[in-house]
Amino acid sequence: MTTDLSAILDGQVLTRGDAGYDEARTVWNAMIDRYPRLIVRCHSVRDVVTAIHAARAAELEIGVRCGGHSVVGHAVPEDGMMIDLTAMGEVVVDPLRQRARVQGGAMLGALDLAAQAHGLATTAGNVSHTGVGGLTLGGGMGWLARQYGLSCDNVVSFEVVTAAGEVLRASETEHPDLFWGLRGGGGNFGIVTEFEFRLHPIGTQALTVAYDFPIDHAAPAFRGWRDLSVGAPRAATFEATISGGIATLGYVWVGDPAEGRALLPSLDRIGTPAAKRVLDTTYLALQQRDDTVDGHAFRRYWKGHYFAELSDELIDIIVEGALTQTMAPNVGLQAYGGAIADVPDADTAFGQRSTAFELVAAARWTDPGEDEVRIAAARAYAATMDSYASGAYVNALNDEGIAGVRRAYPADKLARLTALKDAYDPHNVFRLNQNIPPTR
Ligand code: FAD
Repeated sequence: MTTDLSAILDGQVLTRGDAGYDEARTVWNAMIDRYPRLIVRCHSVRDVVTAIHAARAAELEIGVRCGGHSVVGHAVPEDGMMIDLTAMGEVVVDPLRQRARVQGGAMLGALDLAAQAHGLATTAGNVSHTGVGGLTLGGGMGWLARQYGLSCDNVVSFEVVTAAGEVLRASETEHPDLFWGLRGGGGNFGIVTEFEFRLHPIGTQALTVAYDFPIDHAAPAFRGWRDLSVGAPRAATFEATISGGIATLGYVWVGDPAEGRALLPSLDRIGTPAAKRVLDTTYLALQQRDDTVDGHAFRRYWKGHYFAELSDELIDIIVEGALTQTMAPNVGLQAYGGAIADVPDADTAFGQRSTAFELVAAARWTDPGEDEVRIAAARAYAATMDSYASGAYVNALNDEGIAGVRRAYPADKLARLTALKDAYDPHNVFRLNQNIPPTR
């Protein structure tokens, strides 16, 4: 099969032992150590079609790889076929029309770089080595989302290869049902070979603000920070982290830093921090700020929650657990609202638009001997706030299976997504994802 397939591809087939095989099967989370039978390195849409047909004929499970950042390693099928899109990473910007055509295997960094050359950008995630593919198909949260909506809200059209190997365009006017499902429904409906994004003239500047509080004194400051976030301008995205006994509260501002500093006097009133960092930066530097701390080669486990409200009681639970729990995970909180909530809920498969904050409890370690205890600790910490959660972000789900999918999509959305799955992938060819199973 390998020889036959190689002969008709523009790209290559890699099998165990080939140069580049180990690199291609290695993903962000070092816990993932699986061996696909074949890795098809696609160079063209035609290759993607060929790969899907070949996998189906040989009854191989398909995994689709873009950035490889799925925390559960959905890109890597054990003994199946990895359809590796990373060689399809081109970004072409049309500055006059303010559009970007982005191939299905591109990284966020490539999109940001190409768009910023013209002072443009669209919403992308916070770490530049994340893939445009997985991030956008699940929603796509970033520092521009409160101004311009999620990444998926900025997609004008998708080029998709379906489970039947058909190449379709999905937009408001072409296959609008598929267009709806691809904006938040994940990799369930096909392999996207091109995203067409709307870009915005954002300039090139940003500001980051971070105030550190010892965790045992952080709860009152957390409340003040939360109150301030409610009326914050859309250019500000409030963020908080808890790590190593320190709660860091602040915000990211995309736009003129002088305007961003106007919030500082209010932030000063939330308490007296142990340290303050107020930093003028560029948008591109902001987009790479967390690349190292969120880098490859670590073992990872996380649990995520959406909260419609960050009540005083919930803040106490977040802080208390971080203070007292053994091996408590790191915590990240990011505000939603603004333009995310402007989009009518029915318009996209993404279904959590009234979210006020997302929380991710994230463990990071290196010793495999710690796997069990680290995972248990992250689960236990996140479980203390289960009853406060309004749902979860599909791209932050881990190993929850269908129970997680039900947290990501309310019942009416899930029913519509299931009908779409029945129409476009009735045999569940694309099942190595946060799966929406077809009816039969
Ligand atoms: P991959 O593992 O390559 O893909 C994940 C799945 O997406 C695949 O299994 C497949 O089902 C699907 N997929 C990917 N590309 C395609 C395609 N072209 N066509 C069809 N299906 C495809 N999310 C945010 O919203 N905002 C953030 O700021 C953010 N930051 C993150 C930072 C880090 C360090 C990490 C690890 C994750 C972050 N995430 C963020 C979550 C991220 O959106 C998900 O992990 C997402 O799945 C990553 O996509 P990927 O393409 O890199 O991953």
